[in-house]
Amino acid sequence: MDAFRALRAELPAGVTLVAVSKTKPVEDIQALYDLGQRDFGENYVQELLEKQPLLPGDIRWHFIGHLQSNKVKYIAPFVYLIHGVDSLSLLKEIHKQGAKHDRVIDCLLQVHIAAEETKFGFDRDELAPALDHAFANARLRGLMGMASNSLDRMLVREEFLGLAELYRQYRRPDWDTLSMGMSADYGIAVECGSTMVRIGSLLFGSR
Ligand SMILES: *Cc1c(COP(=O)(O)O)cnc(C)c1O
Repeated sequence: MDAFRALRAELPAGVTLVAVSKTKPVEDIQALYDLGQRDFGENYVQELLEKQPLLPGDIRWHFIGHLQSNKVKYIAPFVYLIHGVDSLSLLKEIHKQGAKHDRVIDCLLQVHIAAEETKFGFDRDELAPALDHAFANARLRGLMGMASNSLDRMLVREEFLGLAELYRQYRRPDWDTLSMGMSADYGIAVECGSTMVRIGSLLFGSR
């Protein structure tokens, strides 16, 4: 896995690599695990539930997709970090399921930063009211966002800088995670202050 080694060498020490393994077989995940990778990201609850029991127990599973409230209960026993929290009702449900399993589940609020309409997340002006609420078993650790799927690097940079600014503005003492950057744009994201990149196709090949 030359791409993995190159990426590990390239990412600064403070940036966590989440290997996004959606649609990829467990063998591919195990291969990266054997090279030392522990953080893996999945987008679909059903797929995650099929893979998780077949792989080592010390993998940190990140849920990075759009999560429906009625599916939280399936991943609550083991999920490490839920990136895409885009509503208060979802956060409340994560809290409820966390309490049921006697866990504190770490979460990131997803912020809508892209010019496209299709991406989920809180709008900038919805963020402050959302942060007024605290849930003991769903602990916020920071923010997550996806830039426009665009070759316009200036636009992508502006979007990431905007998210980094919101992160600084709203940062709480226990926040340590700004999840931004994918295969096509992680370099820009890291320059803009990302602490966690979510990389799939660059590591595992195209889907
Ligand atoms: C699929 C996905 C990624 C990884 O995308 P690549 O372009 O394959 O690196 C990152 N974040 C989210 C939210 C995704 O859905």
